[in-house]
This record gives sequence, C-alpha cells and structure tokens, in this order.
Amino acid sequence: MAEFDLLVIGGGSGGVACARRAAGYGARAGVIENDRLGGTCVHRGCIPKKLLVYASHFSHDFEDAAGYGWSVGPRSFDWREMVRAKVAELDRLEGIYGRLLDSSGAAVIRGTGRMLDAHTVAVGDERHRAETIVIATGGRPTMPDIPGIELAVSSDEMFDLPTFPERVVIVGGGYIACEFACIMQGLGAQVTQLYRGELPLRGFDRDLREVLSEEMRKGGVDLRLNVNATALAREGSAIAVATTAGEVIEADQVLFATGRRPNVAGLGLESAGVETTGGGAIPVDASSHTGVAGIYAVGDVTDRINLTPVAIHEGRCIAETLYNDNPQTPDHRDVATAVFTTPELGTVGLTEEEARQAFPSLDIYKTRFRPLKHTLTGREETVFMKLVVERASDRVVGCHMVGEGAGEAVQLLGIAVKAGATKAQFDATMAVHPTAAEEFVTMYEPVPETATRAA
Ligand code: FAD
Ligand code: NDP
Repeated sequence: MAEFDLLVIGGGSGGVACARRAAGYGARAGVIENDRLGGTCVHRGCIPKKLLVYASHFSHDFEDAAGYGWSVGPRSFDWREMVRAKVAELDRLEGIYGRLLDSSGAAVIRGTGRMLDAHTVAVGDERHRAETIVIATGGRPTMPDIPGIELAVSSDEMFDLPTFPERVVIVGGGYIACEFACIMQGLGAQVTQLYRGELPLRGFDRDLREVLSEEMRKGGVDLRLNVNATALAREGSAIAVATTAGEVIEADQVLFATGRRPNVAGLGLESAGVETTGGGAIPVDASSHTGVAGIYAVGDVTDRINLTPVAIHEGRCIAETLYNDNPQTPDHRDVATAVFTTPELGTVGLTEEEARQAFPSLDIYKTRFRPLKHTLTGREETVFMKLVVERASDRVVGCHMVGEGAGEAVQLLGIAVKAGATKAQFDATMAVHPTAAEEFVTMYEPVPETATRAA
C-alpha cells in the first residue's frame, strides 16, 4: 500500500494545481487520472475551444480586409487540418502537465480512483492511503432523454468531428451553445441555435443577453428563442430536428449543449461518507472541505463556479492551508468571465438585476457604438459597455461588455472591481486612445432612471 500526505482524484485543472502546490511544499502528493492529464480544460474545453474561436475569426478577417485595401484571393477551410493541428497542440500541453507534475515531485497514478474509506483509494488492484484526499473529478455533458438523442453529439465530440458539417443545429443557450454557434458559423456552417428560454445566457446581465443575441444574429447565427428540440430522426444522411414550434429542421450535425453534471459515479463516495446534492455535486464549505475529516473537493465536481481559474485557485488554497501554514479560502465574489462568442462577451461583478436586489440605488452607465475598425470594413458589429455603480458608495460593482476583446478587458477591470474602485476613480483614469476599452473610463452621464435597457 502506497502512503501519501495528499492524494488527488482527477488530474484536471483543480487536481493538478493542488497536487503540484502541495508537492512544492514538501508533501508526499499523488494524482490519480483515468484519462488524459489536463482534464476538460486542456482536452475538451477552454483550450481547443479557444483555438477553434481563433480559426473561426479568419473568415471575418478576410472579409474585413477588403475595407482596408487588401485583396484576399480564393480561400478555403480544411477542418481536418485544423483538427490535426489542435491534436498536436493538446498532446504538447499534456506532456507539459506531466513534466510539471514530475518536476514538482508529485506522483501520477494512472487509472480510476474509487474510495474504499475516508483514507483509502483503490486504483485497480492497488490500494493507496492518504491523510488527505481531494476529489477533483470534474464533470461531463448531459443531454435530455428525447427520442433520437443518440444521433446528437455533445461538446466532447465536437472537437474531433470526422467531417465538417454544413448545417448545424445547436440546442441550448449557455456558454457552450453560444460559443459553438459562433465558432461553427465563422468556420462556414449554417447554424441554427434553439434555446428554450427568452434570451440566452441566463444569469448574465440582461442588456448583455439582448445585445449578444442581436450581434450573433447579425453575424449569421439563426438564433431561435422560446424553442426547444423535441425529437431527432435520421433522414438519409441528415438528421431531422423536430421543435416545439412544430417545425422540422434538417442538419448534418446536432449539438446538445444542455449542461454538465459532476463526475461522481463509481467514486465510492458512500464508502467514505461523502454526500452529494440531488444534481450529484459534492457540497463543501468555504475551504472546500466536505465535512468528512480529511476529504476535500474542488472544481466542477462541487458545481460552484465551473471555470478553470476557479478550480485552480480552490486547489491551491487547500495546499497553502495544509502544507504552507498559510490558511486561505477561495473568494468566489467578483469572478470575471468571458463567453468567447463573436463578438465576445465579458463580465465581472454584479449584473444590474443582482445589484438592484443588493442596493437601494444605482447609477447605470451604458454605451453602444461602432468600433473604429469597422468604420472601414462596413461590418455592422457594435460594441456595448455597461457599468453598474452603487450610488451611496460610488463603487463600481459590475462591468459588462460585448465586443472584440471583452475577455481581455474584464480580466483587467476585475482588478478594479475586486479592489473596490469607485466611479470617480474610473473617471480620474486617463483613457488609452484610440481603444474601445477607453469608453469604460469616459462614460460620464448615467442612464436616466427611466431608461434601463441597452441603448
Ligand atoms: P476537469 O478538468 O474536468 O478534470 C477532472 C479530471 O478527473 C478529468 O481529467 C477526468 O478524466 C478525471 N477523473 C474523473 N473521474 C475520475 C476517477 N474516478 N479517477 C481518476 N480520474 C478521474 N472554463 C474557463 O475558465 N474558460 C473557458 O474558456 C472554458 N471553456 C470551456 C469549454 C468547454 C467546451 C467546456 C466543457 C468547459 C469549459 N470551461 C472553461 C470549464 C472548465 O473546463 C472547467 O471548469 C475545468 O476544466 C474544471 O476543472 P476540474 O479540475 O474541476 O475538472
Ligand atoms: P450551462 O449550464 O451554461 O447552459 C446549459 C444550457 O442548456 C442552458 O441554456 C439551459 O437552459 C439549457 N438546457 C438545460 N437543459 C435543457 C434541456 N433539457 N433542453 C433544452 N435546453 C436545456 O452549461 P454549458 O453546458 O453551456 O456549460 C457548462 C459550464 O461550463 C458553464 O456553466 C461554464 O461554467 C463552463 N464553461 C465556461 C466557458 C467559458 O468560460 N468561456 C465556456 C464553456 C463552458 P436554461 O438556461 O433554460 O436552464
């Protein structure tokens, strides 16, 4: 039986970060992984997604170049070549993950971890004992149980489709559905996105949701709201998607991006006394502790904020607390996030709706304009920015943007929001000209109280 101070089940973003940091402080640490080191983010999430986003932007760039005097000759997109390049990059990243773990001194154990009790994990015939166990097994896509669902794919398969589909139906209105709608549209597919609700990206600021919906439609995505898929059927080489609107849409590929569930099946949680919620998530306290002595959980398996930097931070806090005498808890407030649509959406802090619940009075600042770049390209795309300010303290409690570079902008605005910056401090900040982001420090007039929607 191998002995560890810390044993992590799951070698994705959170697990690897936790084990590396712990090993760096001298703990005997190990990571159990049953697939590829790097997990969802590296192999089926952030990284391949962002590579596809880059690929999808070229079609717009080629079109836009004409406005600047360029003649771009015949062009075509080779999906297989893109997939080959992506696979090579992910292999490289996986290698880096392995080497980083090696150099930190953490052991990598290949196989599926199953807890036998609060301190013992079985991997095949082996038994590993550890003082502390961190569950970092992530999540997987879920799809509704409708007729013909086996004909659809999840985001996991989208990255390696054998051929590029000309017509795609995407079901869902979350991050993944919106991102893939724009990716596939940019790469040349005809995209129909079906969302069962009134506006996609439930939980985001309403103005952002409205503006993004408009911009996605302008970009060519056929976004249909208050519509869901009811059944799929094979029609020759195509798939027929029946909808609640009584239509049948033909597609070459159907993506269901209808949410994810924590990976807890077969983990032996019951043997260790670890409970789960109805949705399968592992509930934890502020320090990611499960309530069972010595057992922690981080990342998507806890279904708090399912983002890579959050999982990493949660994992590192455990290592700091236990092995560096530096107690830390992750702060889940004001986490900046981007949806890598075209145009991008970035947000940090409170939505206007949340701020209205939290504070008696707000000042809202908004602007929507055509970016300088598109004055010559003729593209109709606009940029939207919004600040939510708590009137009593003058604190900027929310920054929101739809437009090129929104992710980069909110990454930096996140520091200001986290630091409690006031609107007066935003106003006192010199603009960087000419940029789009300068508007964040030059919105001087709040929206009149009666007009709260995107201009
Ligand atoms: P994971 O990275 O999922 O790692 C869990 C690991 O555990 C996996 O490698 C799995 O194989 C392993 N495992 C599971 N069960 C066992 C077991 N019993 N034994 C051994 N190993 C096991 N986040 C962002 O911040 N930005 C983005 O742009 C972004 N884009 C995304 C795009 C897509 C399409 C998806 C699906 C997700 C995206 N995310 C993004 C979310 C991000 O990928 C996750 O929040 C993050 O990967 C969670 O990390 P984790 O460590 O909790 O789990
Ligand atoms: P989300 O939970 O964000 O969205 C799921 C979507 O599917 C929602 O629009 C939901 O609708 C809809 N839905 C759920 N069930 C059904 C159903 N039965 N029929 C039709 N529609 C349904 O999940 P995603 O899968 O998009 O992403 C998972 C998580 O991964 C994200 O929340 C995010 O944390 C992370 N992620 C982050 C990214 C980034 O940082 N850029 C990119 C991709 C993922 P409704 O709103 O009505 O419930």
